Amino acid sequence: MSVAATRVRTRGRQADGDRPRILLANDDGVNSPGLHALYAEMRKLGQTTIVAPDAERSAVGHAITTLTPLRVKEFRMGRDLAGYAVNGTPADCVKLGVGTLFKTPPDLVVSGINLGGNTATNIIYSGTVSAATEGRILGIPSIAVSLNTFVNPYWDFAARFARQVAREVLKRGLPPRVLLNVNVPNLPAERIKGVRLTRQGESAFVEDFEKREDPRRQPYYWLAGADLTAYQVLPTLHDWGLKV
Ligand code: MN
Repeated sequence: MSVAATRVRTRGRQADGDRPRILLANDDGVNSPGLHALYAEMRKLGQTTIVAPDAERSAVGHAITTLTPLRVKEFRMGRDLAGYAVNGTPADCVKLGVGTLFKTPPDLVVSGINLGGNTATNIIYSGTVSAATEGRILGIPSIAVSLNTFVNPYWDFAARFARQVAREVLKRGLPPRVLLNVNVPNLPAERIKGVRLTRQGESAFVEDFEKREDPRRQPYYWLAGADLTAYQVLPTLHDWGLKV
């Protein structure tokens, strides 16, 4: 083995400066257990810095903040500086992170793990997917990860799978104008059957506004809804020869 090869190998394994740099965002906020599960896995892969909303900003889509200032606070996990909590949207976090908080752009943007799936029409509303979209707009390979449940989340498999996907993306890159929107069933590893590549569908939540009354007897409305409409397999998928 040549000296040069040894040096390259050692450097790649050891020096922090050579590890991939990962920006981790979400829309559930810096205190979300899904973010923490993903952080633990991404740290095994590279130098990972959280830039995420200081509180939940689910379903804000790709909104950005232009009329009020953005405040940034260091976010610690134990004694470590894990990253930054921002009083803005998921897209704000990625924009500010990539352009300002990071000295040079990261190698990868990962968003999640969201509590609740992000498929079909939901993608339009999703802050989780928008964080990845913002990364993609800025020219960085980006992945969104969501867990398909709202109750009793099982983060372990989703976080480990996200690391596998991230490792491949770091190795191979992604085609231009493509991001990965990964949705994981809420199951332990042994019950996951495999991976399917698909495209965005058109199903949506069946939603209703609940009308209630406040303590001053004034009406207010709160969006409620849980079930997705039946998933329609798009005919073109068959033409593509994809398994759906
Ligand atoms: Mn969310």
